[in-house]
Amino acid sequence: MQLTIDLTGRDVLVTGSAHSARQAVRRYEAAGAVVHRLSVPEGGPDDGPLPERPFLVAAVDDGQSGWEPLLERCRTAGIPVATEPAAGEPGHVTLVGGGPGVLDLLTIGAVNALRDADVVFYDRLAPYAELAQLTSAELVDVGKRPGHHKVAQCDIEKLMVDAALTGKNVVRLKGGDPYVFGRGGEEVSACVQAGVPVRVISGVTSAISVPAAAGIPVTHREVSHMFTVVSGHAPLTEKEHTHLAGLGGTIVVLMGIGTLPQLAAGLRRAGMDPAMPMAVVERGYRPGQRTTIAELGTIESAAAGCTNPAVLVIGEVVRVAEANRNHAEASADLNRLAASLLEA
Ligand code: SAH
Repeated sequence: MQLTIDLTGRDVLVTGSAHSARQAVRRYEAAGAVVHRLSVPEGGPDDGPLPERPFLVAAVDDGQSGWEPLLERCRTAGIPVATEPAAGEPGHVTLVGGGPGVLDLLTIGAVNALRDADVVFYDRLAPYAELAQLTSAELVDVGKRPGHHKVAQCDIEKLMVDAALTGKNVVRLKGGDPYVFGRGGEEVSACVQAGVPVRVISGVTSAISVPAAAGIPVTHREVSHMFTVVSGHAPLTEKEHTHLAGLGGTIVVLMGIGTLPQLAAGLRRAGMDPAMPMAVVERGYRPGQRTTIAELGTIESAAAGCTNPAVLVIGEVVRVAEANRNHAEASADLNRLAASLLEA
Protein backbone atom coordinates (compact mmCIF):
# COMPACT_ATOMS: atom_id res chain seq x y z
CA MET A 1 0.00 0.00 0.00
CA GLN A 2 1.22 3.45 -0.76
CA LEU A 3 0.11 6.55 1.07
CA THR A 4 1.07 10.13 0.36
CA ILE A 5 1.34 12.46 3.36
CA ASP A 6 2.39 16.10 3.44
CA LEU A 7 5.37 16.12 5.81
CA THR A 8 6.31 19.76 5.44
CA GLY A 9 7.60 21.00 8.78
CA ARG A 10 6.68 17.75 10.55
CA ASP A 11 9.04 16.06 13.02
CA VAL A 12 10.08 12.66 11.71
CA LEU A 13 12.29 10.32 13.71
CA VAL A 14 14.44 8.16 11.45
CA THR A 15 15.96 5.13 13.15
CA GLY A 16 18.78 2.91 11.89
CA SER A 17 22.53 3.09 11.47
CA ALA A 18 23.96 6.12 9.70
CA HIS A 19 24.91 4.07 6.71
CA SER A 20 21.58 2.25 6.32
CA ALA A 21 19.49 5.33 6.94
CA ARG A 22 21.31 7.82 4.72
CA GLN A 23 18.91 7.60 1.81
CA ALA A 24 15.79 7.57 3.98
CA VAL A 25 17.10 10.71 5.74
CA ARG A 26 17.58 12.41 2.36
CA ARG A 27 14.10 11.36 1.21
CA TYR A 28 12.39 12.72 4.33
CA GLU A 29 14.42 15.91 4.19
CA ALA A 30 13.52 16.31 0.52
CA ALA A 31 9.87 15.91 1.55
CA GLY A 32 10.26 18.90 3.87
CA ALA A 33 10.24 16.97 7.15
CA VAL A 34 12.30 18.01 10.19
CA VAL A 35 14.40 14.88 10.56
CA HIS A 36 15.55 13.59 13.96
CA ARG A 37 17.99 10.71 14.11
CA LEU A 38 18.49 7.74 16.34
CA SER A 39 21.26 5.55 15.03
CA VAL A 40 21.74 3.12 17.92
CA PRO A 41 18.86 1.41 19.69
CA GLU A 42 20.15 2.69 23.01
CA GLY A 43 18.38 3.09 26.30
CA GLY A 44 17.34 -0.50 26.49
CA PRO A 45 14.05 -1.96 25.53
CA ASP A 46 11.67 0.03 27.69
CA ASP A 47 13.21 3.08 29.24
CA GLY A 48 15.28 4.83 26.59
CA PRO A 49 14.40 8.48 26.13
CA LEU A 50 12.02 9.06 23.24
CA PRO A 51 12.96 12.22 21.39
CA GLU A 52 10.12 14.75 21.33
CA ARG A 53 6.94 13.07 20.23
CA PRO A 54 7.43 12.80 16.49
CA PHE A 55 4.67 12.98 13.90
CA LEU A 56 6.02 9.80 12.32
CA VAL A 57 8.74 7.24 12.93
CA ALA A 58 10.58 5.99 9.86
CA ALA A 59 12.14 2.71 10.91
CA VAL A 60 15.01 1.77 8.64
CA ASP A 61 15.66 -1.94 8.69
CA ASP A 62 19.39 -1.95 9.46
CA GLY A 63 19.45 -5.58 10.56
CA GLN A 64 19.74 -4.78 14.30
CA SER A 65 17.08 -6.45 16.40
CA GLY A 66 17.26 -3.87 19.20
CA TRP A 67 14.81 -1.46 17.60
CA GLU A 68 11.64 -3.41 18.17
CA PRO A 69 10.91 -2.34 21.79
CA LEU A 70 11.26 1.32 20.80
CA LEU A 71 9.00 0.90 17.79
CA GLU A 72 6.48 -0.94 19.94
CA ARG A 73 6.44 1.95 22.42
CA CYS A 74 5.84 4.36 19.56
CA ARG A 75 2.95 2.28 18.22
CA THR A 76 1.45 2.06 21.70
CA ALA A 77 1.73 5.83 21.99
CA GLY A 78 -0.21 6.13 18.72
CA ILE A 79 2.73 7.32 16.63
CA PRO A 80 2.62 5.86 13.12
CA VAL A 81 5.66 3.75 12.23
CA ALA A 82 6.67 3.49 8.58
CA THR A 83 9.17 0.80 7.66
CA GLU A 84 11.91 1.87 5.27
CA PRO A 85 14.37 -0.31 3.37
CA ALA A 86 18.03 0.06 4.29
CA ALA A 87 20.35 1.63 1.75
CA GLY A 88 21.99 -1.08 -0.34
CA GLU A 89 25.61 -2.18 -0.24
CA PRO A 90 27.75 0.86 -0.98
CA GLY A 91 30.21 1.10 -3.81
CA HIS A 92 28.41 -0.62 -6.60
CA VAL A 93 27.01 0.33 -9.98
CA THR A 94 23.59 -0.55 -11.37
CA LEU A 95 22.90 -0.04 -15.05
CA VAL A 96 19.20 0.67 -15.32
CA GLY A 97 17.10 0.53 -18.46
CA GLY A 98 14.77 3.51 -18.28
CA GLY A 99 12.39 2.53 -21.07
CA PRO A 100 11.30 4.94 -23.79
CA GLY A 101 10.89 7.93 -21.51
CA VAL A 102 7.66 7.56 -19.52
CA LEU A 103 7.35 6.58 -15.88
CA ASP A 104 4.70 3.98 -16.72
CA LEU A 105 7.28 1.90 -18.54
CA LEU A 106 9.90 1.86 -15.79
CA THR A 107 10.25 -1.54 -14.12
CA ILE A 108 9.86 -2.03 -10.38
CA GLY A 109 13.54 -2.99 -10.36
CA ALA A 110 14.40 0.36 -11.93
CA VAL A 111 12.30 2.27 -9.39
CA ASN A 112 13.93 0.41 -6.48
CA ALA A 113 17.44 0.97 -7.86
CA LEU A 114 16.74 4.69 -8.26
CA ARG A 115 15.39 4.91 -4.71
CA ASP A 116 18.60 3.25 -3.41
CA ALA A 117 20.99 5.43 -5.39
CA ASP A 118 23.36 8.08 -4.05
CA VAL A 119 24.10 9.42 -7.51
CA VAL A 120 22.37 8.94 -10.87
CA PHE A 121 24.10 9.52 -14.20
CA TYR A 122 21.33 9.84 -16.78
CA ASP A 123 20.82 10.36 -20.49
CA ARG A 124 18.26 12.54 -22.14
CA LEU A 125 16.39 9.54 -23.56
CA ALA A 126 15.75 8.17 -20.08
CA PRO A 127 12.70 9.43 -18.14
CA TYR A 128 14.69 12.25 -16.60
CA ALA A 129 11.94 14.82 -16.13
CA GLU A 130 10.47 12.98 -13.15
CA LEU A 131 13.72 11.72 -11.64
CA ALA A 132 13.49 13.96 -8.59
CA GLN A 133 10.22 12.22 -7.63
CA LEU A 134 11.91 8.83 -7.70
CA THR A 135 15.17 9.43 -5.92
CA SER A 136 16.88 11.73 -3.47
CA ALA A 137 20.21 11.00 -5.19
CA GLU A 138 22.42 13.58 -6.81
CA LEU A 139 21.39 13.80 -10.48
CA VAL A 140 24.06 14.18 -13.13
CA ASP A 141 23.09 14.76 -16.77
CA VAL A 142 25.64 13.07 -19.02
CA GLY A 143 23.51 13.31 -22.15
CA LYS A 144 23.51 15.79 -24.95
CA ARG A 145 22.03 19.18 -24.15
CA PRO A 146 21.39 21.95 -26.62
CA GLY A 147 24.56 24.02 -26.79
CA HIS A 148 26.53 21.53 -24.72
CA HIS A 149 28.59 18.59 -25.73
CA LYS A 150 27.71 15.14 -24.66
CA VAL A 151 30.05 13.75 -22.01
CA ALA A 152 32.43 11.33 -23.77
CA GLN A 153 31.79 7.63 -23.15
CA CYS A 154 35.16 7.09 -21.42
CA ASP A 155 34.44 10.03 -19.11
CA ILE A 156 31.02 8.60 -18.21
CA GLU A 157 32.68 5.31 -17.35
CA LYS A 158 35.28 7.09 -15.25
CA LEU A 159 32.62 9.12 -13.41
CA MET A 160 30.66 5.96 -12.60
CA VAL A 161 33.67 3.99 -11.44
CA ASP A 162 35.11 6.85 -9.38
CA ALA A 163 31.78 7.48 -7.64
CA ALA A 164 31.45 3.78 -6.79
CA LEU A 165 35.04 3.66 -5.51
CA THR A 166 34.23 6.48 -3.07
CA GLY A 167 31.50 4.24 -1.66
CA LYS A 168 28.43 5.57 -3.44
CA ASN A 169 25.57 3.55 -4.85
CA VAL A 170 25.69 4.52 -8.49
CA VAL A 171 22.84 4.23 -10.95
CA ARG A 172 23.53 4.65 -14.62
CA LEU A 173 20.09 5.35 -16.10
CA LYS A 174 19.86 4.75 -19.83
CA GLY A 175 17.09 5.07 -22.37
CA GLY A 176 15.30 1.85 -23.35
CA ASP A 177 17.34 -1.25 -22.56
CA PRO A 178 21.02 -0.88 -21.54
CA TYR A 179 22.11 -3.66 -23.91
CA VAL A 180 20.33 -2.40 -27.05
CA PHE A 181 22.65 0.11 -28.73
CA GLY A 182 23.23 1.52 -25.28
CA ARG A 183 26.92 0.79 -24.76
CA GLY A 184 25.84 -1.09 -21.64
CA GLY A 185 28.37 -3.85 -22.28
CA GLU A 186 31.22 -1.34 -22.32
CA GLU A 187 30.08 0.22 -19.06
CA VAL A 188 29.84 -3.19 -17.40
CA SER A 189 33.40 -3.99 -18.61
CA ALA A 190 34.70 -0.71 -17.22
CA CYS A 191 33.26 -1.59 -13.80
CA VAL A 192 34.56 -5.16 -13.90
CA GLN A 193 38.03 -3.96 -14.83
CA ALA A 194 38.01 -1.51 -11.93
CA GLY A 195 36.83 -4.25 -9.55
CA VAL A 196 33.49 -2.49 -8.94
CA PRO A 197 30.46 -4.77 -8.49
CA VAL A 198 27.95 -4.11 -11.24
CA ARG A 199 24.50 -5.39 -12.23
CA VAL A 200 22.10 -4.63 -15.05
CA ILE A 201 18.35 -4.06 -14.85
CA SER A 202 16.77 -4.60 -18.25
CA GLY A 203 14.46 -1.96 -19.61
CA VAL A 204 11.65 -1.70 -22.14
CA THR A 205 13.40 -1.08 -25.42
CA SER A 206 12.20 1.60 -27.80
CA ALA A 207 12.65 -0.97 -30.60
CA ILE A 208 9.38 -2.58 -29.50
CA SER A 209 7.65 0.05 -27.39
CA VAL A 210 7.89 3.00 -29.78
CA PRO A 211 6.26 1.11 -32.69
CA ALA A 212 3.65 0.01 -30.11
CA ALA A 213 3.00 3.64 -29.23
CA ALA A 214 1.93 4.06 -32.85
CA GLY A 215 -0.18 0.89 -32.74
CA ILE A 216 2.36 -1.17 -34.70
CA PRO A 217 2.97 -4.72 -33.45
CA VAL A 218 6.47 -5.83 -34.49
CA THR A 219 5.17 -9.36 -35.11
CA HIS A 220 1.67 -10.37 -36.18
CA ARG A 221 0.29 -13.82 -36.94
CA GLU A 222 0.38 -14.58 -40.66
CA VAL A 223 1.96 -11.18 -41.36
CA SER A 224 5.44 -11.27 -39.82
CA HIS A 225 7.06 -13.92 -37.65
CA MET A 226 10.34 -12.16 -37.05
CA PHE A 227 11.78 -8.74 -36.49
CA THR A 228 15.30 -7.50 -36.90
CA VAL A 229 16.57 -4.51 -34.94
CA VAL A 230 19.13 -2.47 -36.83
CA SER A 231 21.26 0.54 -35.92
CA GLY A 232 21.07 3.29 -38.49
CA HIS A 233 23.98 5.10 -36.88
CA ALA A 234 26.11 4.39 -39.97
CA PRO A 235 24.91 3.31 -43.42
CA LEU A 236 24.58 -0.44 -43.94
CA THR A 237 26.69 -2.38 -46.41
CA GLU A 238 25.26 -3.68 -49.68
CA LYS A 239 25.43 -7.21 -48.27
CA GLU A 240 23.43 -6.16 -45.22
CA HIS A 241 20.77 -4.54 -47.43
CA THR A 242 20.53 -7.78 -49.41
CA HIS A 243 20.17 -9.96 -46.31
CA LEU A 244 17.64 -7.65 -44.70
CA ALA A 245 15.55 -7.40 -47.85
CA GLY A 246 15.62 -11.18 -48.19
CA LEU A 247 14.42 -11.94 -44.65
CA GLY A 248 10.78 -11.10 -45.23
CA GLY A 249 10.16 -10.00 -41.63
CA THR A 250 9.78 -6.67 -39.88
CA ILE A 251 12.78 -4.33 -39.86
CA VAL A 252 13.07 -1.89 -36.95
CA VAL A 253 15.70 0.82 -37.19
CA LEU A 254 16.95 2.94 -34.30
CA MET A 255 19.01 6.10 -34.83
CA GLY A 256 17.90 5.85 -38.44
CA ILE A 257 16.81 9.35 -39.43
CA GLY A 258 20.22 10.43 -40.74
CA THR A 259 20.72 7.36 -42.92
CA LEU A 260 17.09 6.87 -44.00
CA PRO A 261 17.69 7.77 -47.68
CA GLN A 262 20.60 5.31 -47.95
CA LEU A 263 18.60 2.57 -46.25
CA ALA A 264 15.50 3.00 -48.43
CA ALA A 265 17.57 3.12 -51.60
CA GLY A 266 19.67 0.13 -50.51
CA LEU A 267 16.61 -2.01 -49.74
CA ARG A 268 15.08 -1.10 -53.12
CA ARG A 269 18.33 -2.03 -54.90
CA ALA A 270 18.24 -5.33 -53.02
CA GLY A 271 14.83 -6.03 -54.52
CA MET A 272 12.41 -5.03 -51.77
CA ASP A 273 9.00 -4.00 -53.13
CA PRO A 274 8.78 -0.17 -53.35
CA ALA A 275 5.17 -0.54 -52.12
CA MET A 276 6.36 -2.03 -48.81
CA PRO A 277 4.77 0.05 -46.03
CA MET A 278 7.05 2.01 -43.77
CA ALA A 279 6.51 4.13 -40.69
CA VAL A 280 8.57 6.72 -38.88
CA VAL A 281 7.53 7.15 -35.24
CA GLU A 282 9.03 10.27 -33.68
CA ARG A 283 9.16 11.11 -29.96
CA GLY A 284 7.32 8.01 -28.77
CA TYR A 285 5.34 8.56 -25.54
CA ARG A 286 6.30 12.22 -25.46
CA PRO A 287 4.55 15.45 -26.28
CA GLY A 288 4.60 15.82 -30.04
CA GLN A 289 4.61 12.08 -30.77
CA ARG A 290 4.03 11.74 -34.50
CA THR A 291 3.74 8.86 -36.95
CA THR A 292 4.50 9.27 -40.64
CA ILE A 293 3.40 6.42 -42.88
CA ALA A 294 4.54 5.99 -46.47
CA GLU A 295 6.00 3.31 -48.70
CA LEU A 296 9.59 2.27 -49.29
CA GLY A 297 9.41 4.09 -52.62
CA THR A 298 8.12 7.38 -51.19
CA ILE A 299 9.50 7.53 -47.65
CA GLU A 300 12.39 9.92 -48.34
CA SER A 301 10.11 12.81 -49.27
CA ALA A 302 7.35 11.85 -46.81
CA ALA A 303 9.81 11.78 -43.89
CA ALA A 304 11.88 14.79 -44.95
CA GLY A 305 10.81 16.79 -41.88
CA CYS A 306 11.27 13.97 -39.38
CA THR A 307 13.81 14.35 -36.58
CA ASN A 308 15.42 12.24 -33.85
CA PRO A 309 14.56 10.49 -31.66
CA ALA A 310 12.59 8.27 -34.00
CA VAL A 311 12.11 4.60 -34.73
CA LEU A 312 11.63 3.38 -38.32
CA VAL A 313 9.51 0.32 -39.05
CA ILE A 314 9.59 -1.39 -42.44
CA GLY A 315 7.17 -4.23 -43.10
CA GLU A 316 3.60 -5.36 -43.58
CA VAL A 317 2.91 -4.95 -39.84
CA VAL A 318 2.58 -1.21 -40.53
CA ARG A 319 -0.68 -2.04 -42.32
CA VAL A 320 -1.98 -3.84 -39.22
CA ALA A 321 -1.75 -0.57 -37.32
CA GLU A 322 -3.45 1.28 -40.17
CA ALA A 323 -6.24 -1.31 -40.37
CA ASN A 324 -6.79 -1.14 -36.59
CA ARG A 325 -6.79 2.65 -36.67
CA ASN A 326 -9.27 2.75 -39.56
CA HIS A 327 -11.44 0.24 -37.75
CA ALA A 328 -11.33 2.29 -34.53
CA GLU A 329 -12.12 5.48 -36.43
CA ALA A 330 -14.96 3.78 -38.30
CA SER A 331 -16.49 2.55 -35.04
CA ALA A 332 -16.08 5.99 -33.50
CA ASP A 333 -17.84 7.44 -36.56
CA LEU A 334 -20.61 4.87 -36.24
CA ASN A 335 -21.00 5.69 -32.55
CA ARG A 336 -21.22 9.38 -33.32
CA LEU A 337 -23.75 8.70 -36.06
CA ALA A 338 -25.81 6.51 -33.72
CA ALA A 339 -25.66 9.20 -31.02
CA SER A 340 -26.81 11.91 -33.42
CA LEU A 341 -29.64 9.70 -34.71
CA LEU A 342 -30.75 9.06 -31.14
CA GLU A 343 -30.72 12.79 -30.37
CA ALA A 344 -32.73 13.63 -33.50
N1 SAH B 1 18.94 1.57 -25.60
C1 SAH B 1 17.88 2.26 -26.31
C2 SAH B 1 18.31 2.71 -27.69
C3 SAH B 1 19.44 3.71 -27.68
S1 SAH B 1 19.79 4.31 -29.29
C4 SAH B 1 16.64 1.38 -26.35
O1 SAH B 1 16.70 0.18 -26.06
O2 SAH B 1 15.58 1.91 -26.69
C5 SAH B 1 18.79 5.75 -29.35
C6 SAH B 1 17.67 5.58 -30.31
O3 SAH B 1 16.57 4.96 -29.68
C7 SAH B 1 17.09 6.86 -30.87
O4 SAH B 1 17.88 7.38 -31.91
C8 SAH B 1 15.77 6.38 -31.36
O5 SAH B 1 15.91 5.66 -32.56
C9 SAH B 1 15.38 5.40 -30.29
N2 SAH B 1 14.50 5.98 -29.26
C10 SAH B 1 14.68 5.93 -27.93
N3 SAH B 1 13.64 6.49 -27.27
C11 SAH B 1 12.78 6.91 -28.21
C12 SAH B 1 11.51 7.56 -28.17
N4 SAH B 1 10.93 7.88 -27.01
N5 SAH B 1 10.89 7.83 -29.34
C13 SAH B 1 11.46 7.49 -30.51
N6 SAH B 1 12.65 6.88 -30.61
C14 SAH B 1 13.31 6.58 -29.47
